Amino acid sequence: RVGSSPSSNNTRDGFLGGLLAAGFDEGSCLSRYQSVLYRKESPHIPSPYLLERLRRLESLQKKCGPKTELYNNAIAWLKSGHSNKTMECNYVVWLSYSGLGNRMLSLASAFLYALLTNRLLLIDRGADMADLFCEPFPETSWLLPLDFPINQFSSFNRKAPQSYGNMLKRKAIRNVPDDNANGSLPAYVYLHLGHDYGDSDKLFFCEDDQQLLRKIPWLLLRSNVYFVPSLFLIPTYEEELGRLFPERETVFHHLGRYLFHPTNSVWGLITRSCLSYLTKAEERIGIQVRVFDVGKGPFQHVLDQILACSLTEKLLPEVSLHDPPVVSSTVAGSKVVLVTSLDSMYFEKIRSMYWEHPTTTGEIVSVYQPSHEGYQQTEKQTHEMKAWAEMYLLSLTDVLVTSARSTFGYVAQGLGGLKPWILFKPENGTMPKPPCRRAMSMEPCFHTPPYYDCKAKVVMDTGALIPHVRHCEDVTWGLKLV
Ligand code: GDP
Repeated sequence: RVGSSPSSNNTRDGFLGGLLAAGFDEGSCLSRYQSVLYRKESPHIPSPYLLERLRRLESLQKKCGPKTELYNNAIAWLKSGHSNKTMECNYVVWLSYSGLGNRMLSLASAFLYALLTNRLLLIDRGADMADLFCEPFPETSWLLPLDFPINQFSSFNRKAPQSYGNMLKRKAIRNVPDDNANGSLPAYVYLHLGHDYGDSDKLFFCEDDQQLLRKIPWLLLRSNVYFVPSLFLIPTYEEELGRLFPERETVFHHLGRYLFHPTNSVWGLITRSCLSYLTKAEERIGIQVRVFDVGKGPFQHVLDQILACSLTEKLLPEVSLHDPPVVSSTVAGSKVVLVTSLDSMYFEKIRSMYWEHPTTTGEIVSVYQPSHEGYQQTEKQTHEMKAWAEMYLLSLTDVLVTSARSTFGYVAQGLGGLKPWILFKPENGTMPKPPCRRAMSMEPCFHTPPYYDCKAKVVMDTGALIPHVRHCEDVTWGLKLV
């Protein structure tokens, strides 16, 4: 729920149960301090062990981050081309790629991997990362310095010779435990973990490969997926992950709220929307519309689906179609519907419905859509600022309806700690029946997990191994934490 007024006394825990560190300049990132005024307090408390590990990582980021002697030292090794097994500082460099929701999910995954392997996380700033997110670590920067010696990131794809998978294929590196043939390891490898990765790239998720990667100081990682669920299936990390996240479904909820703080410009978009439209109503309903159908939208069947879901699940009140309408003299509560979509038709139709007819419950329903950008414009700065603001606004709602397979919706549900109603993907231009179902957990779905038993070296169903990793509601072959 959105707080009554952001100017009200901040008596609540502004550090999110110890998740956020002190030591930042408040004015440089208002959202870090003010989010507590707009967001409902989370019932999910981070584990003391997670807090301890975050503080440890923060001191590592400071000790080995850009401009330090240890960083310069690590860069010298990188330039030499060889690994030094006794390096004090080891790094994961996350490379920017894909739509904003995808980027946030892969970045949170890379962050968890860094936490698990005692590495620093540095990020390629791409076109807009620094305009969208505040620095998450105190007294240092997570932005990869512009003079980083490797910069042909655009050539890093599944075919790149530096990729771990391709190095394995041509036997430039061997994933055999305690193998001495790996006497001289490279100073870096590229981990291609994008949706189009190949079978040898997927060996990243095997124990022996993790042992080997541990000896390589620089890992350059490019991904557009939430690969966290498969980390839970790697034996070395299983116990540690259980200690970090006794409540498995809170991984993105905690890591996302730790990492992603809107910059002051994005915070302006968010707070102005809240103050003008969202804080006034008693209940907020978010409807995230993302249409992957080919062909030119908007689509009537998608509107029908949104309404069928919202009305049958009683998320929104029915309207009275009696003529003349029964108009109650008292207002029985108020709801605001926040619609996000690249198109404005769904918003306009819902708004007209509640303007032209009274609700049967006597509630007042207002409808708001911050932007309708028409089409996806990845890495265009103002476009992505709006996208980030809208994901954040959705995360502030009380009830959320999302579109199947959309990472934009996953970010919102995870940050908000919400189990959304998922609108199933329409097939052949018709409304699915049922139109939606409630998510099992607030976690994002990993759309392209490996299906491989590393020990037996055979294909297997990785969604049937442990109780906390299941197939997703919206992508049957995907994996999610529950
Ligand atoms: P996904 O494609 O739904 O998984 O989500 P992504 O966020 O990865 O990519 C979609 C991109 O399209 C976003 O990053 C935005 O740039 C844009 N986009 C999609 N839906 C919306 C929306 O409702 N509002 C805004 N402002 N942008 C959107």
